[in-house]
Amino acid sequence: MVIKLNYFTKDKPYNSLNEYNRKHYNAKIAKIPLNGGFTCPNRDGTKGIGGCTFCSAKGSGENAGDIKKSIKDQFLEIKEIMENKWPNILYMPYFQAYSNTYSNLEDLKNKYNEAINVIKEKTIGISIATRGDCISEEIAKYLGELNKKIHVQVELGLQTSNEETSLRINRCMTNDEFINAVNLLRKENIEIVVHVITGLPNEELEDNLNTINFINSLDIQGIKFHSLLLLNNTKLYEEYKENKFHILTKEEYVKYTALQICNLRDDIIIHRLAADAVIDDLIEPKWTIKKLTVMNDIDKYMRNNNLYQGIYYKKK
Ligand code: SF4
Repeated sequence: MVIKLNYFTKDKPYNSLNEYNRKHYNAKIAKIPLNGGFTCPNRDGTKGIGGCTFCSAKGSGENAGDIKKSIKDQFLEIKEIMENKWPNILYMPYFQAYSNTYSNLEDLKNKYNEAINVIKEKTIGISIATRGDCISEEIAKYLGELNKKIHVQVELGLQTSNEETSLRINRCMTNDEFINAVNLLRKENIEIVVHVITGLPNEELEDNLNTINFINSLDIQGIKFHSLLLLNNTKLYEEYKENKFHILTKEEYVKYTALQICNLRDDIIIHRLAADAVIDDLIEPKWTIKKLTVMNDIDKYMRNNNLYQGIYYKKK
């Protein structure tokens, strides 16, 4: 068994976020998913209408707090549930729903500061999910200033580097816009976590590996893997009913994710291995409901085949 880098363990032959947090903070870090009341340029007509075809009406913020409540109240409510599970945890408010840099600077400052100040002494940073085309120079500079006071992490949705798929899923953002955001944020020393989806329509393993190579070529610090979730009331489900495409089996997802990890640069931290299923709205694949089993199967597949993060990565 290979135990290679700082955050590899005997059971998890890759940089797992839990291990990273254990070594850096000696604590469990709870991300508190919030709904800041933003929208998305791919929904309001600025870049597109109706959003990415897989995106739910909640803007991929299924677990985020209740928009009718203040950010402070959302935070306190979710914190209570977390605290019952893990006493002595530290917090990271996480602006999850829609595009959380898509507003004017004053509004962003107010919302971010409200979240950071709820329990300042136990808050180690702030995480902001957004699109590459919602990072301007002005916003990157502000985040850079904030980053000098508290750790700032930005999660960027890429999903795929295949621009044909991007058109098909109505992403309405080019790879160049994504790269531009990465460069603006890294100039300010902001940590970047990228989201990818495995199992998009018409994509094969080769497309997933090309996406990993694209990520490897950029200054990115973390990654979240998700399987495609076919949800009720999405454009993707309408498309699927008209013209069925292949939905990955659990075995395929496990193998494809393991191989993506093997091709991933070995300094990148893995923040997520499997999507959180939205049980009420989930059409397919049903195996995603057992998230822990999927995660364990990926670990097992890698251990059984003597695989580890970066084993197939070739520096270009
Ligand atoms: S960019 Fe995000 S919030 Fe906007 S439509 Fe796509 S997945 Fe949904």
